[in-house]
Amino acid sequence: MSRDALEVRGRARALLEIDLDAVVANWRMLRDCARPAEVAAVVKADAYGLGAEPVARALWDAGCRRLFVARLEEGIALRRLLPEADILVLDGVGRGESEAFLAGRLVPVLNHPGELALWRQVARRVERRLPCALHVDTGMTRLGFTAAELEAAAAEGMAELRPLLVMSHLACADEPDHPLNAEQLARFRSLARVLPEVPRSLAASSGIFLGEAYRFDLCRPGVALYGVNPTPDRPNPMQPVVRLTAPILRVFALEEAASVGYGATYRAPAGARIATVPVGYADGLLRSLSGRGVARINGIPVPYAGRVSMDLIGLDVSRVPERLLAPGTEVELIGGPDGVDELARLAGTIGYELLTRLGRRLCRRYRREGMRRP
Ligand SMILES: *Cc1c(COP(=O)(O)O)cnc(C)c1O
Repeated sequence: MSRDALEVRGRARALLEIDLDAVVANWRMLRDCARPAEVAAVVKADAYGLGAEPVARALWDAGCRRLFVARLEEGIALRRLLPEADILVLDGVGRGESEAFLAGRLVPVLNHPGELALWRQVARRVERRLPCALHVDTGMTRLGFTAAELEAAAAEGMAELRPLLVMSHLACADEPDHPLNAEQLARFRSLARVLPEVPRSLAASSGIFLGEAYRFDLCRPGVALYGVNPTPDRPNPMQPVVRLTAPILRVFALEEAASVGYGATYRAPAGARIATVPVGYADGLLRSLSGRGVARINGIPVPYAGRVSMDLIGLDVSRVPERLLAPGTEVELIGGPDGVDELARLAGTIGYELLTRLGRRLCRRYRREGMRRP
């Protein structure tokens, strides 16, 4: 929905502010930290819900030349935006997709021998060496060649292909003491030796913070770019990127005790004040936040009162001075350095899920200092 449409309605709405300068600052911080390794950007799932186009554009302008998406469709859309970027598709290539990969100059991350065979066939047909990345499994058992599959592939040679990367993915990088990290590192080193000439990539956001040994030639951060803490047991080294606010619609000053919301799960005592705010689970405030979430008015914490509805939530604002409770007053639903992580924890999930669920109908406003384009 455009700003104009909102202004015509003449009423404040929920607003998702996305700080592209902070995304860029986060990317630069990781780049400086990981040097001499290169740092790509993962912009799958619409840049974790924040908008792949503006995010990728800002990162490209800052000097990021390599981007990862999950789906072919995401790669095609990104190619229209960035004609010169290296775009890698984590899903790999399936039957019937090779023309789209070629037309979009997209690089498939080959995840199993069937995909490798398919991509070899395509290369023979077009009579040129085709770029690809090879994903190897080192202990997550999700995607990637096994050791035996990789050796068989290497034995056939890579004459038709131009492997840009051999990569793997860590299952427990956000738990630095987890023994699987070192095991995966050792397996990755040993597997990558099968293709000694090919650059290597293991670390995503959290992996970068496991130390230099994990960084190899290329790092692939996603969530840290968007301000989520990649080191959950330490203070967040990233800058916050998102802020979600919404105006108070109305306030009930209860003369008698009353229940609030569906299911009458919350009983507010006489004298309580309940504010209604126009955001709900259709906007990404998960229903599991019912009775658990906390918002802020002028910095004062206000707990969710009762169940989250599709379009609305109730807040117990009894602690907030009445002069701060006029309709239209701004309520901060996500904000501050750990806003996403904190709300995700209260919802019983992780920052990744909270971000990717932020609703499409939220008005998104991008901050980019010195932005020349509209
Ligand atoms: C999603 C993904 C990433 C990015 O992970 P973050 O934890 O968000 O940094 C990197 N590599 C692969 C293979 C992924 O699937």
